[in-house]
Amino acid sequence: MSNVDKDFLYRYLNSNSPTGYEVEGQKIWMDYIKPYVDNIFSDSYGNVVAVLNKDAEFKVIIEAHADEISWAVKYIAKEGYIYVAPNGGSDCTIAPSMRAHVHLDDGRKIPAVFGCTPIHLKRSLQNDKQNDITNVILDCGCDSDEEVKKLGIHVGTIITFDGNVQELNNGKYIVARASDNRAGGAIIASVAKKIYDNKNEIDYGLYICNCVQEEVGSFGASMIANKIKPNLAIITDVTHDTQSPFYNKIKHGDVACGKGPVLTYAPAIHHNLLEMIKNVAEKNKIDVQYDYSSRGTGTDTDAFAYCQEGIPSALISLPQKYMHTTVEMFCLEDMNNTIELFYQILININKNFNTSYFSN
Ligand SMILES: [Zn+2]
Repeated sequence: MSNVDKDFLYRYLNSNSPTGYEVEGQKIWMDYIKPYVDNIFSDSYGNVVAVLNKDAEFKVIIEAHADEISWAVKYIAKEGYIYVAPNGGSDCTIAPSMRAHVHLDDGRKIPAVFGCTPIHLKRSLQNDKQNDITNVILDCGCDSDEEVKKLGIHVGTIITFDGNVQELNNGKYIVARASDNRAGGAIIASVAKKIYDNKNEIDYGLYICNCVQEEVGSFGASMIANKIKPNLAIITDVTHDTQSPFYNKIKHGDVACGKGPVLTYAPAIHHNLLEMIKNVAEKNKIDVQYDYSSRGTGTDTDAFAYCQEGIPSALISLPQKYMHTTVEMFCLEDMNNTIELFYQILININKNFNTSYFSN
């Protein structure tokens, strides 16, 4: 069975890689995967690709997204309060009273807090606009806009929530800000290490891609799909555990942390690839769960599946609780099983993989 390298995982989870500014996380990812692959390249927007068998004609991509949701400075008021815009699907309702990091142009991170109305005053306020971006204010401890600017903060400066990795229940669960989708990055890097450690021979080119800008529309994945033009693409991202009382299984499906990676059915998911993955899981006794996505999968899978003439694609998801919050959590065993599933798939794929729906 596979075991993620926890030292790498925690370093990567504790780093910052806000959408559009993924370099810090990408460097950690590159340093880790480097010894296990033939070469690594990056492109203008910071997508990073690690390659095995670069000269092979048949190409397979495994992909995760490198970016995390964050905030950006939109307007600095005279009194020194900073109004923000979401950078990705950030949630206004969770920001108040959170600690944050402001990312300055010179690479330094300075502390700030998201202000919150005291409960005493909330009662007397007529319109408690909880879910309203105009109610989210960042406070850097400055009393004027001039002071804010002196710190090096300007319109467009990026902000992330503070918060490092925690283990729950003796390490069964891992809580980490933006494990969506650095968990995926850790999974695909661990697969490369396992192929290297076991000296597996593959007869195709394997492209392990950590793509940028998923949270604003899968743009990094589109760039990579067009650049590499792979024959197959297998994507990993997180998906919702639906066991907590917040969910309705009739609407949201039945997915549980601890019950293994999730395979998605959807028009974008290629039948032959999904069938192959199911068979590999069964043969290797890896428990999997299933979900269905009506239209897009809402992941980078769509960018590959619907790129140019279409790349046969599949999605393997890690169940996660509390997506897009600071307490995103996943089960370590699910992560290790997802690594194992990816590994077994990759050593079973070959360059003659049949992608036709009309012949065997
Ligand atoms: Zn996300």
